[in-house]
Amino acid sequence: MIKENIAAVKQSIVAACARSNRGPEEITIVTVTKGRPAVEIKEVIEAGIADIGENRVQEAVLKYNQLTKQRNNESTSQRINWHLVGHLQTNKAKEAVKVFDLIHSVDSLRLAREINSQAVRINKIQDILLEIKTSPEETKYGFNPDEGIEAVKEISRLQNIRIKGLMTIAPVVDSQEQARPYFRILRELKDSIGDLRILSMGMSDDFAVAIEEGATMIRIGRAIFEKHV
Ligand SMILES: *Cc1c(COP(=O)(O)O)cnc(C)c1O
Repeated sequence: MIKENIAAVKQSIVAACARSNRGPEEITIVTVTKGRPAVEIKEVIEAGIADIGENRVQEAVLKYNQLTKQRNNESTSQRINWHLVGHLQTNKAKEAVKVFDLIHSVDSLRLAREINSQAVRINKIQDILLEIKTSPEETKYGFNPDEGIEAVKEISRLQNIRIKGLMTIAPVVDSQEQARPYFRILRELKDSIGDLRILSMGMSDDFAVAIEEGATMIRIGRAIFEKHV
């Protein structure tokens, strides 16, 4: 089922790209594996996915260790990129920096500084995205769009952090068309900053519209793991 679902997602990507004059190779699928066991992640990887996303540090570390051990035994060389897509508490930054190739959810200067300090300690350049709150729900994390440019400026000064782009989570809406304005806000912010490569936006229910609006990275969970009829 996972394999078929991935094929279906890829087909939708091709269609969305055709509608917006883009190439499917511009889009990276991050498979979000929260709540899913390591065996299923393995299946995803075997289906050709190289990018795995988790929203909790502890859960990710556990599965990272399981999979890395297994893969070492099998001496496979396919590289896996680990993504943190969920909110990161400052006191977990140390663990996060050890495991994740890209942290999508940098939502405050304080967190950015802590990630930087931890990266300095292990001599790593940590790639990050800034999370932008493109819709006003109280429950959401992220910089306001009008703080974005200043935040990029501040965080760029940190030596061991590299800002690769922006991320947003669109609100839950009835149709994906209604999510379009939020994706557009993120793309316009990216354009006004310049020089950033990644736009992480779009999930199972709204990735097609996100691609039409310029997403380069989509974060997909349910569309890959759940049965569709
Ligand atoms: C769970 C999650 C996703 C994937 O959501 P689906 O609707 O299952 O595709 C993407 N981004 C974040 C931040 C998530 O927490």
